[in-house]
Amino acid sequence: MQHTIIGGGIGGLTLALLLEQKGFTSEIYEQSESFKPIGAGIILAINAMKVYTHLGLHKQIEAAGIELSEMTITKPNFNTLSTSNFSDLKKKFQTKTIAIHRGELQKILLSNLKTTKIHLNYKLISIKKQNNTYELHFENGEIIHRKILFGADGIHSKVRNYLFPNSNLRDSKQWCWRGVTSFKTTPYIKNSLIEAWGKDVRFGFVPINEEYIYWYALKTMSSTKEQTFDFNTMFQSFNPLVIELIESTPKNTIHFSHIEDLFPIKQWYKNSICLLGDAAHAATPNMGQGACQAIEDAYVLSETLNPDNIQQSFSKFQKQRYAKANSIVKISWKLGKLAHISNSFSIMLRNSFLKLTPKYINQKQLENIFR
Ligand SMILES: Cc1cc2nc3c(=O)[nH]c(=O)nc-3n(C[C@H](O)[C@H](O)[C@H](O)COP(=O)(O)OP(=O)(O)OC[C@H]3O[C@@H](n4cnc5c(N)ncnc54)[C@H](O)[C@@H]3O)c2cc1C
Repeated sequence: MQHTIIGGGIGGLTLALLLEQKGFTSEIYEQSESFKPIGAGIILAINAMKVYTHLGLHKQIEAAGIELSEMTITKPNFNTLSTSNFSDLKKKFQTKTIAIHRGELQKILLSNLKTTKIHLNYKLISIKKQNNTYELHFENGEIIHRKILFGADGIHSKVRNYLFPNSNLRDSKQWCWRGVTSFKTTPYIKNSLIEAWGKDVRFGFVPINEEYIYWYALKTMSSTKEQTFDFNTMFQSFNPLVIELIESTPKNTIHFSHIEDLFPIKQWYKNSICLLGDAAHAATPNMGQGACQAIEDAYVLSETLNPDNIQQSFSKFQKQRYAKANSIVKISWKLGKLAHISNSFSIMLRNSFLKLTPKYINQKQLENIFR
């Protein structure tokens, strides 16, 4: 039986690879005209890399990216507040954490697909149910009929809006700039992600290979209307490396986006349509786990899928994934608020708390996520 996936993002492509491995054939309908990745990096934590190891792709991903050995939260001047080290977890799970350019990851996923047919320039605009089949209407005028459907079409999912029209997105009131720049990595920043927390603003950066650094900046803003952004003012109290990284990035490659998440929905499937990834449980990016959770979804879906009993397959999938994915949504939301406190006294309290939190608590939390 042919499996139809709407959306060729990380979740959709990974699901297609896993379904191929199980001997199923799939097709992907993607709205874009071509696979053009945004100029940004991505962290593939141990839980995601475990799935890619299962697919036999870990060596290619490791070769195209860089291994991360730690993540540090700092003050604006880069003085450490808290460090999470990945080496014990790497030993425990026999898997590395990798930082990689999104484009490189996309290339690897696409080049390993063998039987999946990809239809580009197919933007789904509506779904109609007709007895046991779904009539899918695309913006290019095409109409197809399918029995089983996977909605991997991201946070603004059309498939979710069809299944659960009352689902709501939450505005974090934070906006994000992302960039990739060629920059000589010094031993100080090699293999580590640094995220500096200021007042209402933060800046993170991580090498994604020997030559390039991926950086991101977030600021609290209720609206971007009539705003001019002056990074020099925004980051005046930060280590000068922040401005060096921003200024060394070609302006037209900097990606600017609004940060929102999906208020948890009760159900991820209905009849023979199932959601995965951001379509089902989009989180704010504060834990760097959104794509990792989409990848975990794809794995569990491929393991539970039984075309003779679709309802039971989707129910098993949701049972295995629901609590963890939604706890990531919840914790990420709170972490984002904590990172953007604006009151000086609260910042002092928060920083003391971060400094005093024993390392083993950070490790335990990561272990629960990576498992
Ligand atoms: C600033 C930022 C940093 C992040 N950093 C990390 C990180 O370091 N690690 C991590 O794990 N996660 C990270 N994430 C989250 C991660 O990017 C997402 O969770 C992940 O991309 C979700 O994958 P997905 O396949 O579910 O959705 P998407 O990647 O959004 O893919 C959806 C696909 O569906 C297509 N599509 C949408 N609508 C339609 C339609 N109507 N018809 C046809 N096709 C359609 C889209 O074009 C797209 O290709 C970050 C997110 C942000 C915003």
